[in-house]
Amino acid sequence: MSESDETRLLANVPDGLFIAGAWRPATDSATLAVHDPATGREIKRIASATVADGTAALDAACDAAAGWAATPARERGELLRRAFDLLQQRKEEFALLMTLEMGKPLDQARGEVAYGGEFLRWFSEEAPRIQGRYGPNPEGTGRMIVSRHPVGPCYLITPWNFPLAMATRKVAPALAAGCTVVVKPAALTPLTTLYFAKLLQDAGLPPGVVNVVTTSASGPVSEAIIGDPRLRKLSFTGSTPVGQKLLEQAATGLLRTSMELGGNAPFIVFGDADLDRAVDGAILAKFRNIGQACTAANRFIVHRGVAEEFARRVTERVNAFTTGRGTAEGVTIGPLIDDSAVAKIDELVRDAVARGAHVRAGGAPIEGPGSFYAATVLTDVQPGSDILREEIFGPVLAIVTFEDEDEAVALANDTEYGLVSYVFTPDLARGQRMIDRLQTGMIGLNVGVVSNAAAPFGGWKLSGLGREGGAEGIGEYLETKYTLTPDPA
Ligand code: NAP
Repeated sequence: MSESDETRLLANVPDGLFIAGAWRPATDSATLAVHDPATGREIKRIASATVADGTAALDAACDAAAGWAATPARERGELLRRAFDLLQQRKEEFALLMTLEMGKPLDQARGEVAYGGEFLRWFSEEAPRIQGRYGPNPEGTGRMIVSRHPVGPCYLITPWNFPLAMATRKVAPALAAGCTVVVKPAALTPLTTLYFAKLLQDAGLPPGVVNVVTTSASGPVSEAIIGDPRLRKLSFTGSTPVGQKLLEQAATGLLRTSMELGGNAPFIVFGDADLDRAVDGAILAKFRNIGQACTAANRFIVHRGVAEEFARRVTERVNAFTTGRGTAEGVTIGPLIDDSAVAKIDELVRDAVARGAHVRAGGAPIEGPGSFYAATVLTDVQPGSDILREEIFGPVLAIVTFEDEDEAVALANDTEYGLVSYVFTPDLARGQRMIDRLQTGMIGLNVGVVSNAAAPFGGWKLSGLGREGGAEGIGEYLETKYTLTPDPA
C-alpha cells in the first residue's frame, strides 16, 4: 500500500454524522481527531455529536421503525446480502482503513473483513426464517398463536478493537429482525463504521434504518439515548465496568440488553497435548489482534511435565515476530491502541516480575513513535499476580503450571469472567469433562480461535448477557407475542 492509497481512502471516508440517510456536521460543529496508533499522527477529523445530535439520530430510527418492520423479511435479507457482496468488492479498503485507525497488521485486518462480512451473509439468510408457533391449548378450548416481532429502535455501542466485525455483528441481526438502529462506535476507531454506513447506503439502505453518531462525549450522548422511553434495546460490546454502568441506566426503561464484556480466558495444555497444535493455537489465541481481543488467552495453564518445552517453543515463535506498522510487509505485531494501553501492560508485567515471574521474551515497551509493546513471554507467574486476575489486552503470554486435572479446572475457573476457555488434549473423555466443568460461554477444544458468525458468541459471569451470531443472535432483537383465540369448532 502506498501513501497515496492511504490518502485517497481516508478522503473517501465520510466525516459527518449519518442521520436519517444524510451526512451532516454536529450541531455545534465540534470535531474529534482520529490517530494512527503506529505513528501517533492525526489521520482525519470527523464530527463529534452533541446530546441533541444523538437524540436526532434516535428520532430518525423511530421515524423509520414502522416502515422497516413492515418491510418483507426477504427484502431485509436481500439488503444485507447486497451489503455482503459490496464488502467483498471493497475488502482491501476496509482492511487498510482498520489498519490505519486501529493498528492491526493488514493480513489480520483482512481476516476481520472476512469474519465481519459473514454476519451480513448469515443474517441475510436468517431474516426469512423468523418463525412462530400455532396449536391447540391443552384444554382443547382455544388456539394458541406465538408470533415474533422486532423489538423496536436499538442503540448499538461498539469497541475499538474490532471496528468492522463488532458493528456487523450487531447491525446485521437487528436489521434482519426488522429493527432500526443508532450505532455509536468508539471515538478511537470511528472511521470503519462511517465507511460501513456509506456501504449500506450504496446497498440501498432506506433513510433512518441505520444512523451513526461519532462523539468524544460518549457518556452524556449515550445516557440521553438510553434514557429515552422510545428506545427498546441496548446492545453493548466493551469493558465490564462500562457495561455495568449502562445496565443500570437501562434498568429505568427495562430495556432488552445484550452485553458482550471483558474476558480472562484460560488456555489449558494437558501433558498429553499435541504440542505443535497447542503452540499454533497459543500464538493465535494470544497474539492475534496484538492480544487486544476479549477472547485473547490471558492465562496459560500448562501441565508441569510439558511446561518447559511449551515455553521454549512459544518463545522461539515470539522471537521470530516482526513488530511494526501494520501496513508494512511481514509485520505480525502492530501497535497497541494508545500509550495508556502500553503503560497498563507494562504495569502488569512489572508486577508479575516483582512477584517472581521470569521474562523469556520481550518484557518492555518499545520506544516511540507509536504505541508499541514488545511481544512477551513470562514463565513461573506466581499466584496473586495482577496479570492472572486482570484482562491483559496486549501481547503478553503468561504461564503458570498445574499437576492434575482438578487443579487445572480450579485455576481456570478462578476468575469473575467467563467468556471462553481453550483446552488442548487428544483425550476425548477428558475433553468432554472439561466441557462440563469450565464456566465459560465458549470453549476451543484443540483450537485457538472459536469465533464464527454461525455460532452463539457470548459469556457467563461478568463476561456478559445474551449471544451474538448463530440462530440465537437474531432472537436478541425479537419480542415474543402470544395470542389466544377460541377454538373455531
Ligand atoms: P470500553 O472503554 O468499555 O468502550 C466500549 C464502548 O463504550 C466504546 O464505544 C466507548 O466509547 C463506549 N463508552 C465508554 N464509556 C462510556 C459511557 N460512560 N457511556 C456510554 N458509552 C461509553 O471498552 P474498549 O476499551 O473500547 O474495548 C475493550 C473492552 O471490550 C475489553 O474489555 C474487551 O474484552 C471488550 N470486548 C468484548 C467483546 C465481547 O464480545 N465480549 C468483544 C470485543 C471487546 P468511547 O471510547 O468513545 O468513549
